[in-house]
This record gives sequence, structure tokens and C-alpha cells, in this order.
Amino acid sequence: MKPHEFPEDIRPYLQPSHAGKLIYRCLGCKREFGIDRLVYVCPSCGQVLLICDQNFSSLKDISGTLWRRIFDYRRMLNVPALKGIYRYHEFIGPIIPFEAVIYLGEGHTPMVEANLALQKKIGVRFFFKNDGQNPSASFKDRGMASALSYINFMVQKGHLSDVLAICASTGDTSAAAALYASYLQPRVKSAVLLPHKKVTPQQLSQSLGSGAMVFEIPGVFDDCMKVVEALSESYNVALLNSKNAWRILGQESYSYEIAQDLEYDLSNTVVVLPIGNAGNITAVMSGFLKFFETGIIGTLPKIIGVQSEHANPVYRYYLEPDADKRKFVPVTVKSSVAQAAMIGNPVSMPRVIHLVKHYNESDGRRKVFFVDVSEQNIMDCQITANRNGHIACTHGGESLAGLLTAKERGIIDPQDIAILDSTAHALKFSGFQEMYFSQQFPPDYNISPNQDLINAPVYIHPQNIDKVPVPGKPLTGEHFKRFVEEVAKEIATMLELKKGSGL
Ligand SMILES: *Cc1c(COP(=O)(O)O)cnc(C)c1O
Ligand SMILES: [Zn+2]
Repeated sequence: MKPHEFPEDIRPYLQPSHAGKLIYRCLGCKREFGIDRLVYVCPSCGQVLLICDQNFSSLKDISGTLWRRIFDYRRMLNVPALKGIYRYHEFIGPIIPFEAVIYLGEGHTPMVEANLALQKKIGVRFFFKNDGQNPSASFKDRGMASALSYINFMVQKGHLSDVLAICASTGDTSAAAALYASYLQPRVKSAVLLPHKKVTPQQLSQSLGSGAMVFEIPGVFDDCMKVVEALSESYNVALLNSKNAWRILGQESYSYEIAQDLEYDLSNTVVVLPIGNAGNITAVMSGFLKFFETGIIGTLPKIIGVQSEHANPVYRYYLEPDADKRKFVPVTVKSSVAQAAMIGNPVSMPRVIHLVKHYNESDGRRKVFFVDVSEQNIMDCQITANRNGHIACTHGGESLAGLLTAKERGIIDPQDIAILDSTAHALKFSGFQEMYFSQQFPPDYNISPNQDLINAPVYIHPQNIDKVPVPGKPLTGEHFKRFVEEVAKEIATMLELKKGSGL
């Protein structure tokens, strides 16, 4: 729709103005710092930062009703810079000019309702929100669109040149970082650090394909993260891990989209998501809070953070009911199929602690919960979901396992509708499905495949034919006719097909 065709009262708001006043705020000492420089931790106390808009309260000058109409009309606007996460520009990056926005098709991923059979099995009405349908096939693109748009803005302003963007990754951060950085060639280059053999071949191929410099390090993600931190402290590099608060801003779009897709009524909504480095749950809470504080939504949804028993430091922290007695203890991770969340010392833990408190207080009762789930349940849930029309990754399976556990623990009310985050595409983690189907899980995963869920190809090679086609050497004449007949017969027998034509 063309701008002049929109209702008159909406037209002034279609194109956002850049009226924000963003600053980094330290969660430790509460000091504030200008955003004309990339900083990741507080220069004075070392704590992680969040980006805040000092003009945020001016967003309340527009009513919740008007905001809702603005976003709904923006859906119809064909301006590339506003097609992705920046549909919510005023809430995500109100200083980033359109010319600096990098849009590679991220965001606005579909919410797909589970079929009746699966809902009945689980006992809760639920949807998957498929963040695997982002350009690099995980939700990380939301944060990278924000971080790289900011870097692009700084480059355009002349504040930065020849940027080396760097990250540690369990696979998806590096895929997204390499993709978005490659779009800014040659002014931005990227390097990624991966734990050797702890990312999937698909994820490795992504950062290589985007032309990043790829380094593999012995150990697990937490070890890579320390090296990257050391590099970012001593050298001029742009850190793209979620320690970088710009990532969090972009990932808030996940919450805004859920709100918009549910007509801004979140009264019975439960959002279930996996936790690794805890950047995602930080962003999701922050996003819902901003919409709540501006009256765009009237209720905060329940949030359930899920961790594998093999990497559950956040879950353990909240096991202690008395907030004053809670003490964060990093864990040593064990092998997990939710490999992108296999993190024992999440960088965003202070943000989580800060926001969970704020979130619960804003609603006046407990709204954020944590559960842990077994590796077995994660795999069984992923495969069950995908046998019912979904494309969940192992972490999507973890979300579904978390929903089941939350239901058992009485966290889900009968009228609740759950939105499960499938954080990446199933294909990125097909190796785990393969281990399941071929019953070859190494013992440390603690997974024994359910026979009913196993699937494997059947090789058809009838005994009574002597010639089969080979690539480059097709069969012809009688040989080919016989081949087709015999193969068809064998398949029909195996499928117990009845004679007839069509249905
Ligand atoms: C990064 C990632 C997670 C964990 O998200 P955090 O923000 O680190 O908590 C979960 N699933 C997938 C597929 C990921 O790539
Ligand atoms: Zn500080």
C-alpha cells in the first residue's frame, strides 16, 4: 500500500522519526554511558549493560490503541527498512536511520498451531513460533540485524572503519554474524571462534560459506567465550555475542511479533523458550515489559525458561525460593542435543536476575518460571512434533518438553495457550535425529531411542532382476520395463497396497 493511501491519522507515524536517546546502563553500579562507542561491560565495575532509551516515557504520549494501529498498518507498508525487526523501530533502535538498516529478511516468523492429535497428546493448546525460518535459520538473526545496523550506522557516521566483528559461538551466533557481516563487505570482516566438534556440520558450513575466518578451539563454548572476551578487552574488535547489548534490542522483536499476532491480548499466553547464554530470555522479557509499560498490551504473558538437565545453571539458581538466599553457581556442562544452549555460565545471568524481578513485580505476582528437562524428553518431543507437521530443532523439542514439565508441575492453567520457541531449523541439528534413528547416541547423552519413533530408509533391490540403472547408464527397453515393474511390486507389497487406480 502506498503511503498516501493510509488513513490520515496514521500517516504521520508510518515512518518512524529518530527521537530516541539511547544510553548503556550498567546493571551493577547503575552508571550510564554514551552509545557513540561500542562497549560490552561497564568500564567502571565490569558488569553487563543494557541499552535504555532516556526518552522512553515520551512513547507513552501515544496511546496503546494508536500504537497498535500504527504497527498493524505498518504491516502493509513496503519500505524494506521497516519490513523486519524495525517495524517496531521506536522500541528497538530509535536512533538508527533507515539508510543504515540491514534487512536480510529476518523476523515475522510464523506461529504454527499444533494439530489436534498433538494438542491432545500434550494436553495444552499450543503453537510453535518458527524462528528457524529466519535467513540463517535461527533467531540469532534478529539480534544481528540490530547489532550490524548499529555498526553500519557508526561506519556511515565515520566513527568506525575497518571493523573486525568477532564472536564465540555454539554455531548459530557465528552463522548469523558471518552472514550479516558479509553483507557489509569490505568495511566489516568477521572472525568466529567455535568449540571444536561442538557445532554441527551445517552450522560450520554457514560461517565458512559467508567467508568468515573460522577458528576452532578445544573445549566447550564457555572456553571460547573467555578467549573472545580477552580479545575484545585488548584489541579493537566488535564483539557480537549477546554480551553486546545491541543484540538484545533486536531480539526483543520476538515478543512484539507475538503480541501483534495475538491481537495484543496476552491474558492467557505462555511463552516457552530454551535458555543457553540467556540473551534470548532477557530480550523476550524486556520486549514484553516495554509493550506493557506503554499500554500496547494489557497483561504480561507467563514466561517459562527451559534448560536441559545437562546444562541447567539458571534453573538451579531459581530452585531457591528465597530471593535473598539465591546464589549463582556456574555448572560444568555435559553433552546435550540442545547443543546451542550447552552453556554452564551464561553471560546474561545478571540481566535475567534484574528482569525476572522487574517482570514479576510489574504484574504483581510470579510470572516467570524455570524448568529443566531430560535429554530423552528433548529428543522424543522434537521427533514427535516433527512427525506432526513441525520443523522444530532440538531446542524446539526442549521447549515442548518444558511445556509438558510445566504442566506436570502445575504452572500451566487449563485456559492457557502456549507459544513455543523453536529457536532454529530442524535441519541444522539433523545429526541428532540421525543418531536417534540409527541408535548411535554416545552414552553421555543418556538417550535410548523410542522404537516407535525410529525411522530409516528402506533400500529396494529386487533379487529377480539382473540389471539396475546407474547414474550415467540408464536402462532401456525390456530391462527398464522389468525394473519398474519389479520395484513397484516390492514397494506395493511392503506397503500392503490394494489393487486399483487412484483413490
Ligand atoms: C543461541 C541459541 C539458544 C540459546 O539462546 P540464548 O540467548 O543463548 O539463551 C537456543 N537455541 C538455539 C537454536 C540457539 O542458537
Ligand atoms: Zn557498573
